[in-house]
Amino acid sequence: MSLLEISSFAAGQWVAPGTGARNIASAITGEVIASAGNDALDVQGMLDYARAVGGANLRKLTFHDRARMLKALAGHLNQHKQALYDLSFNTGATQSDHMIDIDGGIGTMFVFASKGRREMPDGHVYLDGDVEQLSRNGTFLGQHICTPLRGVAVHINAFNFPVWGMLEKLAPTLLAGVPAIVKPATNSCYVTELAVKLMLDSGILPEGALQLVSGGLGDMLDHLTMQDVVSFTGSANTALKLRANPVILENSVRFVAEQDSLNASILGPDAQPGTPEFDLFVKEVSREMTTKAGQKCTAIRRIIAPQAQVDAVIEALSARLSKTVIGDPRLDTTRMGALVSNSQKRDVLEKAEIIGQEAERVFGDPENFSVDGADADAEKGAFVPPMLFHCADPDNAQRVHDTEAFGPVSTIMGYRDLDHAIDLANRGQGSLVASVITHDANVAREVAIGAGAYHGRLYFNNRDSMKESTGHGSPLPHMVHGGPGRAGGGEEMGGVRGVKHYMQRTAIQGSPDILSAIGDKWVPGGTEIEGPAHPFTRKFGELSIGETLHTAPRTVTLEDIETFAHFTGDTFYAHMDDDAARRNPFFPGRVAHGYLLLSFAAGLFVQPDEGPVLANTGLDNLRFMKPISAGESIKVRLSVKKKTPRNEEYGEVRWHVTLTNQDDEIAAEYELLTMNAF
Ligand code: NDP
Repeated sequence: MSLLEISSFAAGQWVAPGTGARNIASAITGEVIASAGNDALDVQGMLDYARAVGGANLRKLTFHDRARMLKALAGHLNQHKQALYDLSFNTGATQSDHMIDIDGGIGTMFVFASKGRREMPDGHVYLDGDVEQLSRNGTFLGQHICTPLRGVAVHINAFNFPVWGMLEKLAPTLLAGVPAIVKPATNSCYVTELAVKLMLDSGILPEGALQLVSGGLGDMLDHLTMQDVVSFTGSANTALKLRANPVILENSVRFVAEQDSLNASILGPDAQPGTPEFDLFVKEVSREMTTKAGQKCTAIRRIIAPQAQVDAVIEALSARLSKTVIGDPRLDTTRMGALVSNSQKRDVLEKAEIIGQEAERVFGDPENFSVDGADADAEKGAFVPPMLFHCADPDNAQRVHDTEAFGPVSTIMGYRDLDHAIDLANRGQGSLVASVITHDANVAREVAIGAGAYHGRLYFNNRDSMKESTGHGSPLPHMVHGGPGRAGGGEEMGGVRGVKHYMQRTAIQGSPDILSAIGDKWVPGGTEIEGPAHPFTRKFGELSIGETLHTAPRTVTLEDIETFAHFTGDTFYAHMDDDAARRNPFFPGRVAHGYLLLSFAAGLFVQPDEGPVLANTGLDNLRFMKPISAGESIKVRLSVKKKTPRNEEYGEVRWHVTLTNQDDEIAAEYELLTMNAF
């Protein structure tokens, strides 16, 4: 293989390696395969270009435009993933590791694309939470909104996931409307470079939205402003150094870190040998130790088992680990490839030695193991075997709780009771994930209460969920990834939460019309617009926000209540028995069914002819506020609250519906959803 020149993409130009370039070796053979880095990279020019060109271009698009862009990008990467697989073997990753890194990254982008369309508006302002009533008469209200930061996101990634690591940060950033400069770890940056090339060549991204630094970042962080964000994944030492940068501190630059984590997995006290949970535990631990050769920020580093089961776990786990075929990751038979580099191998062996000061190695010998494949070089390649340690006195140990050997290394320790297990799990001083394998929901509850504050994610698994569970080690785009304390104190993904990390939340206070205009969503109390015709006869595009219909009143009779009760079978006493209803603190006597009122409301506002309203798809936030007795009347106010296009044919209209009685008191309020043709 000829030497690969890994370029950066700066201010619209590819920049080849130059002075200061670093060599990159294959994880399998130890031979140099690439070089990356150029000291002459104009980092200030990159920041300016991102802010002036990329940011401006992205902010012209709506959240839905950007979500569609993500979907197209993910689809494009998906079509070309074989090229990424082929290259990525050199990092030591197996095909199943690629499924996590490459397919997992693409899948994450698809999820953000879908969430952007479903959970964010087709506009430029994201409404965060509900309107807050700040005054007695509702003329002064509050609403939190989020708008994209006007700066650039600098993503500094770890070597272990050259594709997923980039995409899990990039997807929420672009969806927010913020341009990104991606800096992958040099050891595996050739895979990231190809993914970036694919995305740029697709022509899907607007100019300036994405730039790449292959090799060192230079003094880029010294030029950041209060509108920029740094999102870092890597070691605690580097995180500490970078977050202490005086410019970052002085300008309050957002700094998100995901760093070392001593993740634990607890075998529940109920999970004796012979139970499905015991077997599941052994399987999950062994998988977490060997996937990506243990180079996963979420890998299980500490195995916490009931004291009485420690020997059984060691025996079962050793039997399973002994079947791990180590070797050339390109071979189908290989179960565990190499570490990313020889310096990583030295680091893992050093850390294993430190753990060995407090724990006995009970499986795996780095001096004596075999490697499969003619091309895999056991001496020059970065191979290590899985290593299991047993710590007999975890209470008095320290290093097993604070040393992250970033490879296939894990330590088992026994616990006396559940409180002790929780205490040991929390000794990691903050982790990305802790798991509990138990079929006892009370055990799960105790752990959630006792350990929740120390872990970013708690993963429970047992016989009921094991077929569909996604694995201890898999961060999901829907769920928060990050953890307190040692794990860096950061948070990524978690659905729309992850997008908000790249936006500013602003509290807006003002009149209903001001709030309606800013949020592009009608707020009760805002101006009601009288349309030229019944709103149900108007197409999606014709309806204005605030367009309102007031219906005629309808009197509710006792006969209506009786008929409805017998027709539906709902003969609840509050509708049928005057004395019983009076004994109830909520009713003055027999009252109309809430559902009767809703049905009458529909009868009052519906326009029956075939027209642009295609379907009634739901009803949100229904509240019955005042009962209606026989002889009273109701009328309806129907206002267009929000419009969300769904596709080329139709869009969703959210109507604000208010039912009032003859004294204009609100009897019920809700939001009605319809699909309307364009
Ligand atoms: P590093 O912290 O050394 O590097 C992480 C990223 O930071 C890389 O992109 C690196 O670039 C970059 N970087 C390093 N120094 C600077 C700097 N001065 N300015 C700007 N960027 C910088 O971690 P590694 O990826 O090398 O992994 C080392 C250890 O980190 C692992 O052994 C493991 O213990 C831990 N780790 C933990 C993870 C977790 O989430 N728990 C994930 C990955 C690693 P470059 O490669 O060019 O130096």
